[in-house]
Amino acid sequence: MTSPLEQKPDWVFRNARIIDGSGSPSYLGEVAVTGEFITAIGTLGAITAIGHNEIDLEGAALAPGFIDAHTHDDRIVLDAPDMLPKISQGVTTVVVGNCGISLAPVQFAGDPPPPMNLLGGRNSYEFPTFAAYADAVAKRRPAINVAALVGHSALRLATMSDIHRKANDAEIARMGAMLTEAMENGAIGWSTGLFYPTNADADAEEVAALGRYVAEHSGVYATHMRDEFENVLESIEESVETARNAGTPLIISHHKCAGVENWGRTEQTLPKIAALAEHHPINVDVYPYSAGSTNLRADLMTDTYPIMISWSKPHPEMTGRYIVDIAEEWGVDIHEATARLQPAGAIYFQMDEADVRRVLASPLSMIGSDGLPHDVHPHPRLWGTFPRVLGHYSRDVGLFELETAVHKMTGLTAKVFGLTRRGALKRGHFADIVAFRPEMVADTATYEDPVQKSVGIDWVMVNGTMSYASNGQSEGRAGRLVYRDR
Ligand SMILES: [Zn+2]
Repeated sequence: MTSPLEQKPDWVFRNARIIDGSGSPSYLGEVAVTGEFITAIGTLGAITAIGHNEIDLEGAALAPGFIDAHTHDDRIVLDAPDMLPKISQGVTTVVVGNCGISLAPVQFAGDPPPPMNLLGGRNSYEFPTFAAYADAVAKRRPAINVAALVGHSALRLATMSDIHRKANDAEIARMGAMLTEAMENGAIGWSTGLFYPTNADADAEEVAALGRYVAEHSGVYATHMRDEFENVLESIEESVETARNAGTPLIISHHKCAGVENWGRTEQTLPKIAALAEHHPINVDVYPYSAGSTNLRADLMTDTYPIMISWSKPHPEMTGRYIVDIAEEWGVDIHEATARLQPAGAIYFQMDEADVRRVLASPLSMIGSDGLPHDVHPHPRLWGTFPRVLGHYSRDVGLFELETAVHKMTGLTAKVFGLTRRGALKRGHFADIVAFRPEMVADTATYEDPVQKSVGIDWVMVNGTMSYASNGQSEGRAGRLVYRDR
């Protein structure tokens, strides 16, 4: 044990296979938690916990709580603060505000345009400042921690009357002031979604100019790149150049090579990213599936791979069905069917499994679900991402060791986002902890039946509070907004 304990711990985990998040080999040991913190790790001997808070893990794994590097959970942490889809996977922190989409700071008079509608309708957007959002998170106290990015589309929609052009100097100054307010009130950085119509007319110059406001406060930059299809290499170059000009570390969101004609091209993108990462901090996030999901879009419609409807406002009865079947039933082509279903969401089976594995195995990749919590028939990544990496890809496929899998969802992620005292089982760190069974952990959510709890996750603690237990014995919610080291 590292040092004598001055008081009896609140919790003791015994007979644990300790996977500390650093990627180093696991070992058998014990962990003590007092208040919000890990107070001892190693061999505790005769030290006992207050009351009966002693858990014998019988050799099961104990790891830092998982950090979901890429989410759209901005609103759901307030609306459904139990956060069951995530905490049941062992997730204790979510990074929100990705893809240029964030709940603050923007409000709408009418319906939010796509992709902002992925977070909800007009009533969901009630935070004119980041401080107001931070306050709502503190009051609501979700079960898991929130690390927040500010989205470029949110800023553009809040400041520009016409978003289908580049921002002028006055608009950049206004967006910059909003970014400054956000960074001063706890945002960890910002994001763009240059692929999306609300963001696409921003050029590299506009992005770099705004990135400088974030750099002033040592924030990070995450981007859903302009092109993940044919021009993916050019988009990587643009992203790195922009981040370098701004002076921010770069995170390439949900890295993929989409579209049948681009399958296999991670053999080009990953070496390129690795070479660029020698000179500038770059990481990527990735979800463990070969299908993506976003709004249903006419420009993404194709018959070269299956496309499933995840929600449709005029045709909710088509949820969970394939576009080709819907088109056939209606006696129209897929383009007409797409038009009739709008507004809608879809799941696109647009990736090659070999590419997914290559990105997962890259030492630069962190695990991020990109789950869409408001979808009626969500992509299974919302409920299954983390157990799928641990069970399917690490244990069954043997893509990497369990310690590496855990590192990609804890230590690496905490380092990239600079999350203070998170992501490691270490004395003095916040007690964000998950106990799971490596031999049985598995995702059960499928494309057909996506709302399914994973199996093999036994206990999840957040800030020292036992917040999820497969036996039902939880104490409550203790999540909060978490900050970046400055
Ligand atoms: Zn995205």
